[in-house]
Amino acid sequence: MKPFPSLEIVPPLNGITKAELLESIRPLLEFGPRYINVTCHRDEYEFRPEPDGSFTRHLLRKRISQTAVCAAVQAAFPDVEVVPHLICGGASAEQIESQLQDFKFMGIRNILVLRGDAATGEKRFTPEPDGYAHAEDLVSAIRRFERTEGGERRFTLGVAGYPEKHFESPNLDTDIQFLKRKVDAGADQIITQMFFDNAVFYDFVRRCRAAGITVPIIPGIKPLSSARQVDLLPESFSIDIPLALTAEVAAHPDQAYRIGQEWCREQCRDLLANGVQEIHFYTMGRSDNVISVLKDCF
Ligand code: FAD
Repeated sequence: MKPFPSLEIVPPLNGITKAELLESIRPLLEFGPRYINVTCHRDEYEFRPEPDGSFTRHLLRKRISQTAVCAAVQAAFPDVEVVPHLICGGASAEQIESQLQDFKFMGIRNILVLRGDAATGEKRFTPEPDGYAHAEDLVSAIRRFERTEGGERRFTLGVAGYPEKHFESPNLDTDIQFLKRKVDAGADQIITQMFFDNAVFYDFVRRCRAAGITVPIIPGIKPLSSARQVDLLPESFSIDIPLALTAEVAAHPDQAYRIGQEWCREQCRDLLANGVQEIHFYTMGRSDNVISVLKDCF
């Protein structure tokens, strides 16, 4: 099988038109992605003061809904499979079930199942009282849903893996044990958190295999695109950036975009040379650097 990329997009901020969204994706299609993942974000609220001193809660929806984005991408690019992310955060079991009904109606066949992060202002993730606490529970719930809907496995389910461990985990081995539980609950594949050192990924795959995880492990990749990201990415995603890359960016901060792109290109070439079949690109709203990497590697 020829290796191929998959792409992850974030629903755009309100105000962008459907045509603008689709035009930002179109140039990426030349490189044969099989999947476009669409991330999922829990609703955010703000509390506004009322004249009587009380506060009322108001929904702050800053982005186009995931369902609208998935439907638009599906209709415009029927040869690419749309993969919505589904999170436990902020949703009850009933709301999740109704979302699964929508996915079924839309002909979605592939879902990336996640817990989600803590709500803004909270330190630790708190599940809804009648929701799911871990991605493992959500995977099991989706498999139960399929059984009640006629028995056949309808969805291919992906889950997240962390080559540098999830930030809440005490160590990588414990994290991998929980990853195995997600697979045993019914996940078909794993997509990793971004990493900038391929040796870390290869070691992670080796440790997962040793732990009895046999499903495909798809590397997640993102080109570093600014000098600020040297600080921001480790802070946001609990990952390391290798010294060779940080030193080069520190020496030429004005060229961080080019340096990040070249680093990413080398990572992808090495992954492909080592037999990787699929690379998942975090586009994070910028696609020109990803296009340049795809041009050279696919
Ligand atoms: P889990 O698998 O539930 O793991 C969370 C923590 O709990 C880990 O430390 C794990 O070791 C531990 N754990 C797991 N299972 C158990 C258990 N049964 N009992 C006790 N401990 C357990 N976030 C979004 O909000 N929207 C997105 O669209 C999104 N997309 C992502 C895509 C990818 C490829 C990746 C890698 C991450 C994405 N995230 C997204 C971020 C993700 O939601 C966070 O990293 C979150 O903190 C953990 O999610 P998880 O599914 O890995 O959680």
